[in-house]
Amino acid sequence: MIVSESKVNYSVDVCVVGGGLAGLFAAVSAARHGAKVLLMQDRPVLGGNASSEVRMWVRGAVASGKENRETGLIQELEMENIYRNPTMNYSLWDSVLYQLATNEPNLTLLLNTSCLGVEMCGEKIASVTGWQLNSYTFHTVEAKLFIDASGDSVLAPLSGAKYRVGREGKSEFNEYAAPQTADRCSMGSSVLIEARETDHPCTFIKPEWAYTYPDDESMYLKNHDIVGTDVNFWWIELGGEQDTIHDAQAINEELLRVAYGVWDHIKNQGDHGMENWELEWVGFLPGKRESRRYEGAYMLNQRDLEEGHIFPDAVAFGGWTMDNHNPKGFKFMGYSSKHITPAAPYQIPFRSLYSINVPNLLFAGRNISATHMAMSSTRIMGTCSVVGQAVGTGAAVAIAHGCLPADVTEKYIHELQTLLLEDGCFIPGLLRQPTGTAKPQLLAEDLTVLENGWERPHNGVTNTIVLPEGLTINFTQPVKALRLALDPDFSRESISDEKRYQKFAMRAHIHWPEKRVSMPANLLRACTVTARTADGTESVIPVTDNRQIVLNLPLPENTVSVTLTDLMAWGDEEVRVFSIDAAK
Ligand SMILES: Cc1cc2nc3c(=O)[nH]c(=O)nc-3n(C[C@H](O)[C@H](O)[C@H](O)COP(=O)(O)OP(=O)(O)OC[C@H]3O[C@@H](n4cnc5c(N)ncnc54)[C@H](O)[C@@H]3O)c2cc1C
Repeated sequence: MIVSESKVNYSVDVCVVGGGLAGLFAAVSAARHGAKVLLMQDRPVLGGNASSEVRMWVRGAVASGKENRETGLIQELEMENIYRNPTMNYSLWDSVLYQLATNEPNLTLLLNTSCLGVEMCGEKIASVTGWQLNSYTFHTVEAKLFIDASGDSVLAPLSGAKYRVGREGKSEFNEYAAPQTADRCSMGSSVLIEARETDHPCTFIKPEWAYTYPDDESMYLKNHDIVGTDVNFWWIELGGEQDTIHDAQAINEELLRVAYGVWDHIKNQGDHGMENWELEWVGFLPGKRESRRYEGAYMLNQRDLEEGHIFPDAVAFGGWTMDNHNPKGFKFMGYSSKHITPAAPYQIPFRSLYSINVPNLLFAGRNISATHMAMSSTRIMGTCSVVGQAVGTGAAVAIAHGCLPADVTEKYIHELQTLLLEDGCFIPGLLRQPTGTAKPQLLAEDLTVLENGWERPHNGVTNTIVLPEGLTINFTQPVKALRLALDPDFSRESISDEKRYQKFAMRAHIHWPEKRVSMPANLLRACTVTARTADGTESVIPVTDNRQIVLNLPLPENTVSVTLTDLMAWGDEEVRVFSIDAAK
């Protein structure tokens, strides 16, 4: 007997399992491109390791230079978060993620639903089933395509899709930083600590079950200087020598004993200058770095990243170092990560994003088809985000053509790349082609900047112009929407004086006085668009509190010209723009 017979069935185009940033962006992008999508997520909140349940900050290729910042949906999310959540509060962040999913009419969201079963039809997945914890209900989802963004590749053992665990040996992919022989070790899992600065002394009584670290010897090379470095305790890491899936609960409880012991060390074992700090939060849900990785049509490896391999099917990019942790984690007496610099930005091919043997299965996030070494870079959430958007858009292209992901590589890769560029994503080596139909009344040198295809700074050149008040744009043929690629300040210096918030606007700890972030100074906030149709009819379209970086403004049918007046930026006199065009 089981506790409930309650069952609900769905039939969709694309089913995404796992609602971390990769899964969320895969689902939203597929839905925006016309596919009927269901997103199944086992937690009550979205965001995976970035959610309030884990609180890992989003990092990305921007670490290798501000010009390499990820764009597309991750940028849209960050802008909405800065607008709605200037104090970087995690509950508001959860709500921003939730809104992104629930705003999509084509997207059904199933929270608290853990995927645990698969029905196959030949080589393909026919349906997946999840158990919803709070409603005691089984949800079965039939779909044409499935995207596994669960981190743990839950669909791999259930479907028979090929996958790997552990580290490749040096010789398999000619990776000098890999171990001599393959093993089953991985990077570990961590719980994070968030602290709050107050204006009064705070005490801390350690739980009896937590460890004691009486001196700095026991914390050798484990940076716990919150005030000086804002460290988020990523190094409270264990489980790399265990099975990070099946030993997860034991690893979890051991991590809690360490985490509370570390806080006790900071508060009670020696003077750390933390008298007025109190414990705000400890993550009872660990963040996982590594478990199963899929084998796709191509396995990205260390050499590809270091040598900047060019792929004809490039759809995303990375740029974080290969940040390879020692499997001993916290127990390693030293700094537990080794960094190898890749050629940043490096390309990620579409072939690394779908299964080699289950033809209707794609994946996004830390589980893509990459060796352990390459994954030590691609696992970073900025990269997972752009990969998620590429996979979701690729799935929508496949649905539109009634084909499989491998056919997209063969026949429709240009279409996929064009859609991603139109949506503001960056693919190194490719530039967006302007439509050529928009003719802004500007000097030739400004038009050259607008039409050069760059929608980000490059080689120290801003690639922006100042949008002049009263600008008229004529169109050589009637258009339905105006596309403006706006400047979100790739340096982020205008959103905060604090370097830590200029990377991605989320906090590790709550400093006193409370810090706030602002919208980018030169981003368009408001304007009035006057549109004229071929028969001379004028319509006025107000834009208010804009947070979009790629603003696709719908225009009346047969618009032949627009004029932009009442321009207002978020924090400066000037609105800066990369391109002005008709939407394709
Ligand atoms: C301690 C730590 C420090 C890190 N440091 C950084 C950093 O500084 N910056 C950075 O950008 N990245 C960092 N990373 C890496 C990054 O967090 C992960 O690689 C990234 O979150 C992977 O994204 P994902 O979407 O694949 O997986 P996740 O973020 O793990 O999301 C997967 C989601 O799927 C859900 N799920 C799992 N199984 C199922 C199922 N059966 N059914 C339904 N849903 C399921 C999970 O609950 C989760 O919400 C760190 C990771 C850890 C653990």
